[in-house]
Amino acid sequence: MSAKFIPVVDVRHLHTSQVKAPIGAPSGSLLDSLNRPLRDLRISVTDRCNFRCVYCMPKQVFDKNYAFLPHQSLLTFEEITRIAKTFIAHGVEKIRLTGGEPLLRKNIETLIEMLANLKTTSGRDLDLTLTTNGSLLAKKAQSLKDAGLKRITVSLDSLDDAIFKRMNDVDFAVADVLEGIETAHRVGLSPIKVNMVVKGGMNDSEIVPMARRFHGTPFILRFIEYMDVGASNGWKMDEVIPSSEVIRRIHADIPLVEIAPNYAGETASRWRYADGAGEIGVISSVTQAFCRDCTRARLSTEGKLYTCLFSGSGHDLRTLVRGGRSDEEISSTVAQIWRARSDRYSELRTVQTLELKQRTKVEMSYIGG
Ligand code: SF4
Repeated sequence: MSAKFIPVVDVRHLHTSQVKAPIGAPSGSLLDSLNRPLRDLRISVTDRCNFRCVYCMPKQVFDKNYAFLPHQSLLTFEEITRIAKTFIAHGVEKIRLTGGEPLLRKNIETLIEMLANLKTTSGRDLDLTLTTNGSLLAKKAQSLKDAGLKRITVSLDSLDDAIFKRMNDVDFAVADVLEGIETAHRVGLSPIKVNMVVKGGMNDSEIVPMARRFHGTPFILRFIEYMDVGASNGWKMDEVIPSSEVIRRIHADIPLVEIAPNYAGETASRWRYADGAGEIGVISSVTQAFCRDCTRARLSTEGKLYTCLFSGSGHDLRTLVRGGRSDEEISSTVAQIWRARSDRYSELRTVQTLELKQRTKVEMSYIGG
């Protein structure tokens, strides 16, 4: 590995002089300075979580003295829905509810009902999904479905309870998360994706057992490269297991065939089992950056707009909402922010940027993954 650079994809295509609306982008799409449309909005509905995953909310930082946000500073469901409508009008087609742990937000079903009725600019149903650690899923799956949730993503970093505990630093049984996944399936949430963050030396021994467990099931297992998110997880490059290595290990056990993405901007690279018994995905922000197709905006729990997972600061929309600004004013503010967006942190990640950003990056638990 060269002293200066962490391996990334080449970025030549980013500097084409001829800026054209990307293929499939409806006319009038809101494009950022790198010609990327605004398609996905991730909304963090709480900064709290009942897990302490070492790559996101390490216990030594998020301890009992940690100052979580007071309730009155959280966006209300009405405020979230109003802001969401502004983003949908700018072309957003998918909303992902995140946290912290979103199922900890009281009456989350009410928000889901409010969002589930919204249509995209092309008249289609909004693609509404949610990412959870699964701890409350067995209990809540039916009410989430009834409220209008379409599909769900569940984080599960191991099948082995001891390794699971090492990853999330709480005492929670793998079996309870698996029961949540099965219940979500039974009530009709689909597709169900299972996300595993792979940290070298901690849970990478679970890559093949997880693949075997979900092989032949309707669940799509995705392996996420360990990322230098936030300023608390003490990230080191040599704890990253590149996705190419994840694929190599699984392929040696259950042969895989690479398949095309479902849509431009999909974060996961897709692989199906050669025997036809399902598919997996790999999300390779560190070794195969995908910034060139990044169509994601993030709204923090207290109403700040972030244009990148690795942003240092956000844009305060809550003050506009609570300050009596009109929808048009909020909408043009969002448009201005997005048009000026030039983020591509993962493509630029170097030892220098790591040190530079280490001090300022927003915590993932505050804006959702
Ligand atoms: S690093 Fe930022 S710009 Fe790149 S894919 Fe992630 S969120 Fe998008």
